[in-house]
Amino acid sequence: MQPTKTKEVFKVINTIDGIRTGILKTRAGKVLTPTFMPDGTRGAVKSLTPEQVESTGVQIVLANTYHLHLQPGEDVIANLGGLHRFSGRKGPILTDSGGFQVFSLSKINKITEAGVYFKNPKNGDMVFLSPEKSIQIQMKLGADLIVAFDDVTALDNIGRKRTLEAFERTHRWLERSIAEYQRLTVGMRSEDMPILFGVVQGGLDKNLRRKSLEIVQSLPVGGIAIGGLSVGESRAEMHDMLVFLADKYDDSSRPRFLLGVGDPVDVREGIRNGIDMFDCVLPTRNARHGSCWVSGDKRIHLTNKKFIKDTSVIDENCDCYTCAKGFSKGFLRHQFKVGEPLAGTLVSIHNIRYLERICEKSRSVGTL
Ligand SMILES: [Zn+2]
Repeated sequence: MQPTKTKEVFKVINTIDGIRTGILKTRAGKVLTPTFMPDGTRGAVKSLTPEQVESTGVQIVLANTYHLHLQPGEDVIANLGGLHRFSGRKGPILTDSGGFQVFSLSKINKITEAGVYFKNPKNGDMVFLSPEKSIQIQMKLGADLIVAFDDVTALDNIGRKRTLEAFERTHRWLERSIAEYQRLTVGMRSEDMPILFGVVQGGLDKNLRRKSLEIVQSLPVGGIAIGGLSVGESRAEMHDMLVFLADKYDDSSRPRFLLGVGDPVDVREGIRNGIDMFDCVLPTRNARHGSCWVSGDKRIHLTNKKFIKDTSVIDENCDCYTCAKGFSKGFLRHQFKVGEPLAGTLVSIHNIRYLERICEKSRSVGTL
């Protein structure tokens, strides 16, 4: 297997007490880390324009391969100019592999060594996704950062046999993902190539996790993704695993991406343990239900009756558009109560900014 040019994509600038700041070089621009990536599930961060997303300090937006493959399809998006033109975003876009959604949202028909057969929830059609197919879709979409397809297992209700099977298959599939990536990038200049992330699995079994990390790090991937956390385990278990992995990363030349984690407490713990990138639907999903974070990582629910006459903004310490503009909790509560979509937009801006401020603070002063 030919090594990819992994040494040039990421550089650590500074490390203070285990908190590292770095620069990630993508073909769509440079990214300062740590960084939080909101989920633009179907090609848009729900209810936000690209300018509103940028205003929060977001540097990378994530899009879901699974959803875009099923609708409208990667060919349609390619014909419309690729994900950047399609979504109006100039900066870096990361696509996930589709694996997590296949295993969590679909009725799986069959998992074979070749790939996964599942039913399209919209029309019942049989769909096949494999390591090669996932890489092909992500490349066709035009993402700048892509993720290898893995055999995702939930933490509960599966036996040891299935965990081990998924663990071993994930690494065989990673080799196939890399081979397909290399096939599709033949002849490309290194600066034009998307960055491929390999995914570390192993559930809560530390032995498996260590082995998985060793295997992924031994392969020519541009980034290391930690998958299979924040899927039902306790917060203490997740943090314990982040601490366990912290001193086992081999060097500093590759970014580390913690998949699907976006609660402020968990983001801080990730940053403390050498994680550079995070993504999650939490800030926007919570926002649409009127839930937002305020100083101290507390959550308030704007639909609560106690805010009916509240003239204060969500968080006096926040510099987001919504807080800076002076929208009161009373105003936002009213808009939620009457079903006005603007409420979700304004609170999404606040919640994403909350996470970006955590990242910015750790980048600027090396503290949380
Ligand atoms: Zn705010």
